[in-house]
Amino acid sequence: MNILTMLWKNLWGGSRTMLFPARPEVSERYRGLVRFDPALCTGCAICKMRCTSRAIEFKTGKGEFYWSYDPGQCTFCGRCVEGCKSHALSQDEECPPVYTTIGELKNSYTVARKPPAPKPAAAVPPAVADQRQTPPLEAHNESARKHFGKAGTTEPWVEKGGVHWLPLGAMNVRELATAMNGLHARFVTITAYQLPKEEGFRLEYHWDLDGQLLGFSFPLADKSIESIYDLCEAVDWIEREIHEGFGLDFLGREYEPLLLRQGETPGVNLREEKK
Ligand code: SF4
Ligand code: SF4
Repeated sequence: MNILTMLWKNLWGGSRTMLFPARPEVSERYRGLVRFDPALCTGCAICKMRCTSRAIEFKTGKGEFYWSYDPGQCTFCGRCVEGCKSHALSQDEECPPVYTTIGELKNSYTVARKPPAPKPAAAVPPAVADQRQTPPLEAHNESARKHFGKAGTTEPWVEKGGVHWLPLGAMNVRELATAMNGLHARFVTITAYQLPKEEGFRLEYHWDLDGQLLGFSFPLADKSIESIYDLCEAVDWIEREIHEGFGLDFLGREYEPLLLRQGETPGVNLREEKK
């Protein structure tokens, strides 16, 4: 396309962003706001432990507990919902509402602790489902290696900060996404960091494998990486956010309509690695 045609299209092609309050359509099974049902909550605090974004606060008091959720901190990964055995948490399937002040959408509850259930008269053998435990990560190693193929490394998983990290060897992000699909792991999120001293960027991809959080780190020297949207639909929103927030390119995908509003600048870094 010659430069004049391109200029003409840009000048007269109309706005490429949506005007507020219009919102782009969300994909099927979209993960939105977390909803809490205090009547079902047992106060186990598993959700707080599973929330790496610190969107959930939990404090215990005398005969009661305090639970709160701040959507402004939430990445909508769904790990809290998945970990709540009491089904006290669920997620909306639509875009969260727009808010203008920090903490505006925060919800807090003080819940009275329920008295413990009376003990059964005779010991009852536990149900088969209760005997199941999350398999140790090592149990997945062999299966993971099979899915990772020759490109993967033979290094063991390394546990750090509640995340199991696997060095990837020569494996690229698309081979990784294919391997995760093969293992039926659930995509959680991507976190982007700007590295100090102009060393570029780093993306951390997370999947959940049978309740264990896996992490894979990709340093980016040239501000781009292949998109995995066609392999994993759940990355749609976060790839778009990182593209607009950090100016990184996910090769092989479209971003329109853009998430930012008219007049806002793409490529403004949102998060900087601590020096
Ligand atoms: S919401 Fe679910 S996981 Fe969180 S404290 Fe209540 S019962 Fe536990
Ligand atoms: S959806 Fe993810 S980020 Fe949001 S509260 Fe639950 S665990 Fe935290």
